[in-house]
Amino acid sequence: MSHEGIRIVPEDVARKAAGPLQEFQRDAIDPRHVRVNRTEGTGVEIVWKDGHISQWTFPWLRAACPCATCVEEREAAGREPGQPKPEPKTALPMFKPAVRPNNVHAVGRYAISFDWNDGHTSGIYSWHYLRSVCNCEACRASISDATGVPPAKA
Ligand SMILES: [Zn+2]
Ligand SMILES: [Zn+2]
Repeated sequence: MSHEGIRIVPEDVARKAAGPLQEFQRDAIDPRHVRVNRTEGTGVEIVWKDGHISQWTFPWLRAACPCATCVEEREAAGREPGQPKPEPKTALPMFKPAVRPNNVHAVGRYAISFDWNDGHTSGIYSWHYLRSVCNCEACRASISDATGVPPAKA
């Protein structure tokens, strides 16, 4: 069986990594249009078949990496997907290039993955996961409705 270089993640690992996912209509997790603004470095925009539009910056997506290692790290630190790691306190500020992907791959027809410029490549961002972490105001408000946590003010 050949998978042509695509890493297969066992379903239970992928499910654990992505956490409990909301149920969606099929059109809500099927992208009509995916734009990765790699050259401009501005991030990713997806227009879903149900007409909804989601946008994320690259640093946000990097900090929401759904791989098992990043999920464990976030859970241990109590961080939400997309919440950046606190900067280490060093005497001299280190130069850090802006987070962006060197490469973006389609993973089958259900996900994309990024080769981040910090060397991390193991996150597989399924459409389902991306829709569930949509950053738009309406979605963030409905998530906080469900959890009882007020939406963060921008
Ligand atoms: Zn990761
Ligand atoms: Zn949304």
